Amino acid sequence: MPLRFAERADEAYSFPLTIGHLLDAALTTSGDQEIVYRDQLRFTYRELRQRIGRLASLLSDLGADEGMTIGVMDWDSHRYLEAYFAIPMMGAVLQTVNVRLSPQQIAYTLNHASAEILLVHRDFFPLIDAILPALPGVKAIVAIMDGTDGPLPAYAKGEYEALSAAASPDFPFRDFDENAIATTFYTTGTTGNPKGVAFSHRQLVLHTLACNAPFGVTRQRGLGVEDVYMPLTPMFHVHAWGVPYIATMLGLKQVYPGRYEPGMILKLRAQEGVSFSHCVPTILQMLLAGADQTGADLSDWFMIIGGAALTPALYREARRKGMELVAGYGMSETAPTLSIARRRRGEEAGLEADATTLTMAGVPVPLVSARIVGEGMADRPADGEARGELVIRAPWLTQSYTGDPEASQALWRGGWLHTQDVASIDAQGHIQIRDRLKDVIKTGGEWICSLSIEELIAGVEGVAEVAVIGVPDARWGERPIAVAVARPDSAPTLEAVNAPLERAVETGRISRYALLDRLELVEAMPRTSVGKVDKKALRARFAIPAAEMAMAVKA
Ligand code: AMP
Repeated sequence: MPLRFAERADEAYSFPLTIGHLLDAALTTSGDQEIVYRDQLRFTYRELRQRIGRLASLLSDLGADEGMTIGVMDWDSHRYLEAYFAIPMMGAVLQTVNVRLSPQQIAYTLNHASAEILLVHRDFFPLIDAILPALPGVKAIVAIMDGTDGPLPAYAKGEYEALSAAASPDFPFRDFDENAIATTFYTTGTTGNPKGVAFSHRQLVLHTLACNAPFGVTRQRGLGVEDVYMPLTPMFHVHAWGVPYIATMLGLKQVYPGRYEPGMILKLRAQEGVSFSHCVPTILQMLLAGADQTGADLSDWFMIIGGAALTPALYREARRKGMELVAGYGMSETAPTLSIARRRRGEEAGLEADATTLTMAGVPVPLVSARIVGEGMADRPADGEARGELVIRAPWLTQSYTGDPEASQALWRGGWLHTQDVASIDAQGHIQIRDRLKDVIKTGGEWICSLSIEELIAGVEGVAEVAVIGVPDARWGERPIAVAVARPDSAPTLEAVNAPLERAVETGRISRYALLDRLELVEAMPRTSVGKVDKKALRARFAIPAAEMAMAVKA
């Protein structure tokens, strides 16, 4: 028998899972609800809908069309929220440009994505000045002056708020295939240029729906209509973990902090009653330090901490200030959320138990299948101890790296997305990240490709062999250090090793986060059985002891 399908009335509406539909219920329930931008601007959801229409109209006036890539370079703002909706709703592709990459890499990503229109905050005008000659495909740039009156750069077609005010709110959005690409952005790989990932409307809608569920159940009071949301993850990083879409779908009050400044964040938190945020551990630490200095009250602030491991020490510190935290885990390739921490069934709430369970990577969110596998993709036991590579299936995983079939095949080997994270998983599905197979370093939420740093150092006089590794750092999560074997009668210094890196920072080839903190000289490199440098052994040898890390967190 063939499959059977329901009869459809001629005029039955075939509902596409497109991003515009995330607004439907919110506009009915929350038309008067507020969106706040720093201490500069506040407007209602009704106006948000109009502003989305205006942005689409102004982009259309500048030549935007379905399928076109439009890049945004901005801090966390109402403008970015408008772009999250307007650009995909037009059938165009939103490129969330990672402004922390080096200038050369940013130019590469814009060209690779074929970005034709850019929305650029004034803080990035110097960057655009430097790379514009290398961006032949860019046809129009809209300047974001962010409340200042300064002159517009010559290349700007106009100013965001002025163009928006003059544009029609009634853009004729149409329905289209939910599998069309909505967003794209770039992630740092182990080799070569950043890799492009793309997500469809359907994927982002499913991510929004599925992730809303655990946000509601991991804590006693849930994510509810009384919550006030403020992102503290850059909106260029994997859709700020998708939470702006969730908050908008639910019609929550939203507060956008602009460029992160602890004083402004804490002020907005107090003035606007922010109750729900998410960030990387480095930002959490910055806020804890800010609160220490100012005496700001952080109590009852609920946060999802991800992007890097949340240490029990940092968790305890935040709990002592009355915050509620859970860890989350995911990747750029996975839109990003895969798992969110929660207590084990039957586990009593308590500081020590929570500092263990709620800092783990968490349990898979609905629709995520997670396995840990060894050689030949054989399953490892789910006993909380056995380790293997975490491989994933979910409806919102990137289907490929744009234009890179080889890397795409490696990502999807055997029909499962390979995270390159080594994890254990227990009988209740709690995942713990134990190690990393990928040779990259994550510092303050940003990736550094160790291999490209090694290439730069390889020519330094007196260095026979070098390995760049990440070691735990109380403030940044990880920092890069170099381990080198010196040539006979040579003693290379940290300055000498950093010199080619400083030059590469100046020419915009690498980001300044990659400058090394330490140089360790060894007699010989430890090797794995296949003769590769054993970076795991190096990391273990040169890591700062956990006790010192805990002290540094307190300090
Ligand atoms: P990104 O693609 O920048 O989002 O980085 C994803 C990677 O960050 C993951 O593959 C992990 O290596 C790491 N990561 C993210 N969340 C966590 C977490 N909760 N614990 C440990 N590592 C994490």
